[in-house]
Amino acid sequence: MNQASPSTVLPDAAPAPRPSACPGLLRIVAARDGGICRIKLPGGELNAAQAEAIAEASARHAAGVIELTNRANLQVRGVRGGEAAALSAALVAAGLGPDGVAPDAAAGSDAMAKRAAPASNALRAAAADDVRNVMISPAAGRDPFALFDTRPLCAELLTLLQGEARFAALSPKFALLVDGGERLARLDHPHDVWLAASQVRDGVRFVFGLAGCPPAVALSQNSTQARRVDGTGALAAVSPSQVPALVRALLHTFLDLAAADATRMRHLLAAHSVDAVLQRAQTYVDFPLSRDASLASWHRATPADAARRLGAHAQRTTETCHVGGQPPLGRLDAATLHALAALARQQGNGTLHVTPWQSVLLTDIAAHAVPVVLTALNTLGLACDATQAITRLIACAGSPGCAKSLADTKADALRLAARLPENVEVHLSGCPRSCAAAHCAPYTLLAVSPGTYDLYRRDDGHPDFGQCVARQLTIEQAADLLDHLARSP
Ligand code: SF4
Repeated sequence: MNQASPSTVLPDAAPAPRPSACPGLLRIVAARDGGICRIKLPGGELNAAQAEAIAEASARHAAGVIELTNRANLQVRGVRGGEAAALSAALVAAGLGPDGVAPDAAAGSDAMAKRAAPASNALRAAAADDVRNVMISPAAGRDPFALFDTRPLCAELLTLLQGEARFAALSPKFALLVDGGERLARLDHPHDVWLAASQVRDGVRFVFGLAGCPPAVALSQNSTQARRVDGTGALAAVSPSQVPALVRALLHTFLDLAAADATRMRHLLAAHSVDAVLQRAQTYVDFPLSRDASLASWHRATPADAARRLGAHAQRTTETCHVGGQPPLGRLDAATLHALAALARQQGNGTLHVTPWQSVLLTDIAAHAVPVVLTALNTLGLACDATQAITRLIACAGSPGCAKSLADTKADALRLAARLPENVEVHLSGCPRSCAAAHCAPYTLLAVSPGTYDLYRRDDGHPDFGQCVARQLTIEQAADLLDHLARSP
């Protein structure tokens, strides 16, 4: 679904953004159920007015289906023919566009309007939209375990990404992770560049690595958050104030060295040594940047706990909580999004946080209001308890939404939810592209025909989905086998 464009070495003059199959705010991509418009949320956050604008625009110009993505963004599905420009313009008017983009740039998202719109505006805006890929914890600044409030750093990096014309050459999938040490953190998505706060004697430093995830300790045997996913491991550490310059240096280095078909940092590292990459990056900064051998065994001190996305958890400020709920398989309708916006206004700080687990977090809820908020979320159909099976299932759009899908994965996931064994997490994918999961899930059901799947189990010795443990299973057979595997030593 998200084919990325090749990276090329470009001069510092404004480059022409390349075509891409990735949906964006200004690039509505066709799917079987209509157009897809992806809305990048800075730090995963949107205010209640923006949520209402999305709900209204999705009902007016599309099918009223809103998806939460695994990169903590939103996307509107089912955009109707001829209404792409109007949808994009409504979203830009709500302040959801890239920095400095005027609503007229949105005209570029509609083929007819594109002829009348200044094409360069639309292309610049689409490029700025594409590069807005910085992930932080949805509880950044509030999580009591955090070593550093990453929100200002995230804002600074987003400005950097959009501010240099050359960075428009980065793939729309090229992404950064800034980890503040929160307990609520997603650490199993590989990122092109990751940075993680680390406590040292005189304060906090940011350890960084490439093409992977911050190494972390396990919370429990079943934790999916405790895995180091390939990449370089920790390379070096810089002070928080040096992070923007470091990231700028690494992005320029990538663009300097990447071959025409290299779109991600892992491609660069397949052709160049880590030391060569760091040496090149050193030419862009005036502080020392070389591999620090003492960090070879560095890992994050605090285990991450994905279950904290659900239910109520104390924030750093006393007597306040964040409260989270997960819509079934990451989908909301417009009415539910309207209701969530109202709830955030009434009981919280008027903002919603989308999490990379395709759930929603309401922040700054007074402790006494928690029961009211939990009841409201449950009434809206959001699961707030990790024991609910639906919180352990993810599925791609499936055959109703995607021509590549061999099965109706979402409908099958709902059937599986009724029989899913405790503590078992399953990803259903309509084809090997794995749009619903940037990570390798403990179990993956890969569709082979309508209602029939091959079952894979995560295994460090096997790439992609892991080891295939059974073929051609119905959902009922898959449930039985998962139950058996869950009981096996
Ligand atoms: S079938 Fe699913 S995983 Fe494959 S391209 Fe379509 S949405 Fe993505």
